[in-house]
Amino acid sequence: MHNLEIGVKDHDEARQGEALLLEATSELNNGRKLYIESYGCAMNFSDSEIVASIMTDMGFKTTSDYKEADVIFINTCSIRENAEQRVRNRLKEFKAVKSKNPGMMVGVLGCMAERLKSKFLEEEKLVDVVIGPDAYRDLPNLIDQVDEGNRAVNVLLSREETYADISPVRLNTNGITAFISIMRGCDNMCSFCVVPFTRGRERSRDAHSIIQEAKDLYAQGYKEVTLLGQNVDSYKWTSEDQLEKVNFASLLEMVALVGPDLRVRFSTSHPKDITDEVLHTMAKYDNICKYIHLPVQSGNSRVLDIMNRTYDREWYMERVVAIRRILPGCAISTDVITGFCTETEEEHADTLSMMEFVKYDFAYMFMYSERPGTLAAKRYTDDVPEDVKNRRFNEIIKLQQKHSHERLLEQIGETQTVLIENFSKKSALDYSGRNDKNATVVFPVVERFKPGQYVEVLIERCTPATLIGRIVE
Ligand code: SAM
Ligand code: SF4
Repeated sequence: MHNLEIGVKDHDEARQGEALLLEATSELNNGRKLYIESYGCAMNFSDSEIVASIMTDMGFKTTSDYKEADVIFINTCSIRENAEQRVRNRLKEFKAVKSKNPGMMVGVLGCMAERLKSKFLEEEKLVDVVIGPDAYRDLPNLIDQVDEGNRAVNVLLSREETYADISPVRLNTNGITAFISIMRGCDNMCSFCVVPFTRGRERSRDAHSIIQEAKDLYAQGYKEVTLLGQNVDSYKWTSEDQLEKVNFASLLEMVALVGPDLRVRFSTSHPKDITDEVLHTMAKYDNICKYIHLPVQSGNSRVLDIMNRTYDREWYMERVVAIRRILPGCAISTDVITGFCTETEEEHADTLSMMEFVKYDFAYMFMYSERPGTLAAKRYTDDVPEDVKNRRFNEIIKLQQKHSHERLLEQIGETQTVLIENFSKKSALDYSGRNDKNATVVFPVVERFKPGQYVEVLIERCTPATLIGRIVE
């Protein structure tokens, strides 16, 4: 099973399996070392920061070398079969080290832990502790149980847990961009998707704790925050006294007001829920980036119906027209699943024509992967032959590569505001940053400007995936 993610930004292939390392921030030291690595979506990387916060409060220090760790945690993803396979392969590598160091504790966290529960202990003999995404507060207790010679599992899902009061320890940070989790879980029940089962019911985090986190990050010099949720448009929080009601548009406005030079991004928008109010709020504030990730999944109404996406082709197109009207020039990216159960050639052609209609700036593209327990696994047969899936997949990739390139070519000649994030991967003589539309821009270093600053960049040319220019003063 392959995935291709073009223009990957937040669901970042390069970060898969990244190990997290912390400066020693806590005075506490229990003499034990934690190694934690993460897979999957930005939400998982954000959760690992909460886990690190809880573990450092227990006195753990982090290490980037699992061979010297006392505790190895792997924060897992179940979204497609290959994501799970990757984790199982990694566990085999941990097994080799554990056989030499039987005192080492291995824990599986996140979606795979939730999906497989205690089966993990039977299937993967080396695993000592299994912890679902809503059970991280129980870590001290679970670790005690393992220390006492038991194996431990907590995969209880919660209707309330948002970890609102736990300030995440920012891991591997550049000190410039950060994720803020605004909600957890999902109530949508798309028929292909395992998330509602692994992450439970949707709940929105206290708006004040979100704003406080954004303010703290801004005070520390951060210049960009990305608000995270499976379906940010259905964010809805009411204060205990019922007097304050905050929806996503008002939350976005509150975060935008934290600082004029704090960029605000968000992911993911759901086509059924994204409102004109959100689009108008984006238009009102220069620091809300003009970029929307709007997963389409399929361009055909029958397929969307059996996917249980609750919108059809016309509805999606109307939302795109509204974005173009209210936010001219706004970048749009998407997720596409190809080869979903019973998808015909004509229905696949509808996805291609939808891509032509929107001309996405980038797309995350996937071949359908049946997930046990989902509605689609129960109701429909995964009947598109592998070679047909492959061919359709290659067709959408080819079309998207063309569109991504065209979208970049359109920007040549523009002068754009770019937040410098780092040196370019290829050369220390170049900086790399992103523009408002989330496209990567590379340009020669000018000494006076440092990462974390905004610069005006004249775009001179591009590769299929990157804009190239120079700073203009
Ligand atoms: N909540 C977001 C949404 O609805 O768009 C994203 C959820 S998921 C983490 C990211 C993407 O994975 C989905 O948009 C979908 O394209 C893809 N995906 C989910 N389940 C899949 C499956 N069973 N097979 C292939 N791709 C899948
Ligand atoms: Fe999965 Fe659909 Fe929820 Fe996204 S909206 S997480 S695809 S169920």
